[in-house]
Amino acid sequence: MTILEDALAGRETDVISRAARVERMKPSIMEKLVASGRVVIMQREGKPPVGIGQGIRTKINANIGTSTEKIDAAVEIEKARVAERYGADTITDLSMGGPIDAIRESIFRETSLPITTVPIYQAVADAGSFRAVSESELLALIEKHVLEGISSIVIHAGFDRDQLEQLRESRRIMGMVSKGGSFTAAWMLEKDRENPFRSHFDEICSILAEKDVVLSLGNAMRSGCIHDPMDEPQNKEIENNAELARRANELGVQVIIEGMGGHVSADRIPQYVARYKRMTGHRPLFVAGPLPTDIGVGHDHIAGAVGGALAAGAGADYLCYITPSEHLALPTVDQVKEGVIAFKIAAHIGDSIKYGLSSRDRKLAKCRRKRDWEDQFKYALDGDTARRIHLQGQTESCSMCGKYCAIAIMEEYLKRS
Ligand code: SF4
Repeated sequence: MTILEDALAGRETDVISRAARVERMKPSIMEKLVASGRVVIMQREGKPPVGIGQGIRTKINANIGTSTEKIDAAVEIEKARVAERYGADTITDLSMGGPIDAIRESIFRETSLPITTVPIYQAVADAGSFRAVSESELLALIEKHVLEGISSIVIHAGFDRDQLEQLRESRRIMGMVSKGGSFTAAWMLEKDRENPFRSHFDEICSILAEKDVVLSLGNAMRSGCIHDPMDEPQNKEIENNAELARRANELGVQVIIEGMGGHVSADRIPQYVARYKRMTGHRPLFVAGPLPTDIGVGHDHIAGAVGGALAAGAGADYLCYITPSEHLALPTVDQVKEGVIAFKIAAHIGDSIKYGLSSRDRKLAKCRRKRDWEDQFKYALDGDTARRIHLQGQTESCSMCGKYCAIAIMEEYLKRS
């Protein structure tokens, strides 16, 4: 039985109870949310389960992994460790260079978070080109990742040849910007075939159901700049993914919908989130960023965090982080940390919109009022950095205003009067 099948049968299993406990939710409520497809639970053997979806804390994902241009397995493994240390909830390994199997194995060894892969990345890397990938190799690779214990996989099954023709005619500036989507689309056009993930969808679901792996339906048709609005290919992909999600659920597989990642103007973010949620039966929505501007390059983690906070506040459940090196290079370890922190802040702001203000903000404010530095660092999302900056000020109090500290002045004067 999969988690979804147990939930549908009304069984409050251990994994459902543990996921509920983390969210301070009654197991019976968690069970109903899972049964409705509104929450998924990612699991990894021997590690805590992670719930993603409606009514629970917004989660963040950190992408790591080698590229064809930059291959340093040790650095990628350090990025995975840093992502976990600074609060990522899940890790996605996107490695396309070097010893991909060994890198994944090390990530398993060095982390305790759920791990996602996009098997077509490794299929293309192993074959040397998307042209050389066979459907049987793709299915075999999915099975290999599943048997190794990954928690979720991403496939780009939501488009067909008709949408590719629409894309050919479209007036988009950026065309298709999804890497997995572009591999899949190029394979289809090269071989004059239909989307292999659609043709083998039931087979893929039965592989995933074996180990209760979550299916993440990728977002190939997302917009690649804020001037490319939601168009017909993108709308059709949402509809197709909603239909595939229903089918996967029938086969016992939990589903996350990837949507509107990339670039969406700020005014459209809440309305797009609402549309995705409505069209997909309120399944967990995973967004990358989104970036509400295209000119933040070099600082896209900041732009992405603004978009992520708006999206989470409007109901997105799961944010894929963006680092300062987005659109420029593979991130460094420090940039991974910056991306994780930026998106922890975004998710927290999103949750304060969705669920109300958190007591952690109140606690920190009380410590700030007392100029109690150590306790401020305890409640801060990144206390290490806060402490380091404070100590650089080289005074025992705060060097921002020094002896003219507004809080101290008013404390004294309000006490007197
Ligand atoms: S010195 Fe200025 S910045 Fe620092 S705590 Fe006081 S009011 Fe705040």
